[in-house]
Amino acid sequence: MFFQLDDEQQAIQETVARFAREQVAPHAAEWDEQERFPSELVKPMAELGLMGMTIPEEYGGVGFSKLTAALAYETLAQADLSPMIWLAVHNMAAGIIARFGDTSQRQRYLPGMATGALLGAFSLSEAGAGSDPVGLRATARREDDEYVLNGTKMWVTSGNVADVIIVMARTSDKPGGAGISSFIVEKGMPGFSVGKVERKMGLHASPTAELIFDECRIPATQRIGEEGQGLRIALSALDGGRINVGAGATGVAQAALTIARDYARERKQFGQHIADFQAIQFMLADMAMQIDAARLLVYRAAWLLDERGTATKEAAEAKCFATDSAMRITTDAVQILGGAGYVRDWPLERFMRDIKVTQIFEGTNQIQRIVIARALLKD
Ligand SMILES: Cc1cc2nc3c(=O)[nH]c(=O)nc-3n(C[C@H](O)[C@H](O)[C@H](O)COP(=O)(O)OP(=O)(O)OC[C@H]3O[C@@H](n4cnc5c(N)ncnc54)[C@H](O)[C@@H]3O)c2cc1C
Repeated sequence: MFFQLDDEQQAIQETVARFAREQVAPHAAEWDEQERFPSELVKPMAELGLMGMTIPEEYGGVGFSKLTAALAYETLAQADLSPMIWLAVHNMAAGIIARFGDTSQRQRYLPGMATGALLGAFSLSEAGAGSDPVGLRATARREDDEYVLNGTKMWVTSGNVADVIIVMARTSDKPGGAGISSFIVEKGMPGFSVGKVERKMGLHASPTAELIFDECRIPATQRIGEEGQGLRIALSALDGGRINVGAGATGVAQAALTIARDYARERKQFGQHIADFQAIQFMLADMAMQIDAARLLVYRAAWLLDERGTATKEAAEAKCFATDSAMRITTDAVQILGGAGYVRDWPLERFMRDIKVTQIFEGTNQIQRIVIARALLKD
């Protein structure tokens, strides 16, 4: 067991921390208030290599390990969870093209995605298909050398601002996932439009949109992988995605603890600092314990995924524990600040609103528990 990060990982952590401190944290409250996608972050993120974390070097990316990516996401989320989330979704879309795309698809999309000229999104969910994606109803009908897409997709992170979207649709009625295929859809393709942009509790700088396909004709060459492989392709990114969400939640929890601790050292009531009350100390101690445990679970899952290519139970444990902990920690941090925690002068109420969704997406935490239990019971 060796807990030391290597020189490159430490350097990346420091670089992302500086970027987050200087270019993200000062504006996060404003983006939240305006419910605005901060497109100005894309270029500097690309310059740091962050838009190409899952893209091989030959296509202009940096090809980070899962552990290095987790460190970058954790560090960025300390400033703002929103850009961390759309960045992770972008890298998930790029990673799918890098892994399952053919050479011409890689050449067409990956260099632009690495420079940030093309933003990626991932569209699996629908109104009737969330935890159970097999229930998806969007269709892709083959006609000669084209597919014709019809249906409405929901909850697409960056759906209204993305240039390249991985879309899962049904190519046959075969049971289970066997009838689902994956496609690369570009913004502006005829018959494709953006529907409602959701108004959310939090994560305001990460837009979430409905996508509408009405006789949308795309060349058959836009299909990724074979017909019927779509669900497998979509779910292949899940272990990594769950680790990334766990990493982001850990970053937010760390930022909340730091603010609550500093405030408790300054704030006086009954003639003493509130940090001297044991009730406050115990809350801080519980927060620190949960963050350490979450971080270790996230790093272990990332390391295992790098080493063996699969870490399904460990990724579910990391995601579930880190996000449930971060929900408690941000709530307790608001409590430590009292009334100040509840108002927008401090970032804690935003942290608390933002973090809730990490218990819901990338598989709800009920689904994570099902995954863990299934692994436990199968032997
Ligand atoms: C802000 C945001 C961004 C998102 N981004 C994307 C994206 O980019 N791409 C994308 O494809 N999707 C995205 N999603 C969708 C997200 O993955 C789904 O919301 C999530 O999978 C849950 O599905 P659902 O909302 O339909 O809830 P449901 O599946 O309807 O679940 C409702 C409740 O039932 C519980 N439940 C369901 N099944 C079981 C079961 N078997 N046992 C026990 N409990 C169960 C759930 O845990 C939950 O508590 C996003 C969602 C949000 C809110």
